[in-house]
Amino acid sequence: MQPYPDICPCQINPTAETADAPLSYRDCCKPYHDAFYNDEIDKADGTKAETAERLMRTRYSAFVLVKPEYIVKTTVPAQQGLLDFDAIESWAKETHWAGLEIVEHTPKLGKRHAQVEFKAYFNAKDNTVDLAEKIQAHHELSTFVKVKSKANQDALWYFLDPTVAMTVSQKQPCICGSGEKFKRCCGGYL
Ligand SMILES: [Zn+2]
Ligand SMILES: [Zn+2]
Repeated sequence: MQPYPDICPCQINPTAETADAPLSYRDCCKPYHDAFYNDEIDKADGTKAETAERLMRTRYSAFVLVKPEYIVKTTVPAQQGLLDFDAIESWAKETHWAGLEIVEHTPKLGKRHAQVEFKAYFNAKDNTVDLAEKIQAHHELSTFVKVKSKANQDALWYFLDPTVAMTVSQKQPCICGSGEKFKRCCGGYL
């Protein structure tokens, strides 16, 4: 077992001049990761992400700490079986993560969606002379959907993965279980 990092991976940002003291992993993403690992997420007392930004942060930390199970379980349930677990795990392991910057959080988009624009920094492996040029960023706009869980009435946020090919047609019920047509719901973001 590797020791827990003092500073949560999602709190390390190579570009921000943040005045706040960064949170430790124990006080930041760990309770969320633990809740999923213990399968407590469907219980009322399980720690779950209150916002899409919170979920985004815990997913970034899960990549850094190589917790592919968390990445899978926080993706919308209809896509979970279509994810390539081994590819997620090796990508997490092979990437030299360098920090997360939340560019913009749109907490409410229609009835049940939210978006987070972020930059996930990583060290490129090439032998560039200039050190500053070695840090690169994945700049992405991710969409999240709120889904009611089976076991309790609380809705949970899930990541909508646009890279997963879905075989649902535009007129079929949405993959998130909202009861709306796919095209009027998550289809607009996939
Ligand atoms: Zn964190
Ligand atoms: Zn939907």
